[in-house]
Amino acid sequence: MKLLIYVAVLILGVWLWRAHRQPPSKGQPPVPGKSKSGALPHEMVACRACAMHIPAAEAVVGKLGSYCCAEHMNHSES
Ligand SMILES: [Zn+2]
Repeated sequence: MKLLIYVAVLILGVWLWRAHRQPPSKGQPPVPGKSKSGALPHEMVACRACAMHIPAAEAVVGKLGSYCCAEHMNHSES
């Protein structure tokens, strides 16, 4: 009976170790966009004027939202 417990603990340990390692062979599908923190390097935002998607780092941020260029921000917010 002791042997069964040892084997169970061993299997549990290996399973936990493998789950913690996350082997790359069985990867999960990539999670799109804004599911995690806002610090993603290539987060995309849509221009409120023309709906074009641009990287958040390059977006022009106005009072109402993000825009692809200052011209669209002025057009939408004035
Ligand atoms: Zn635009």
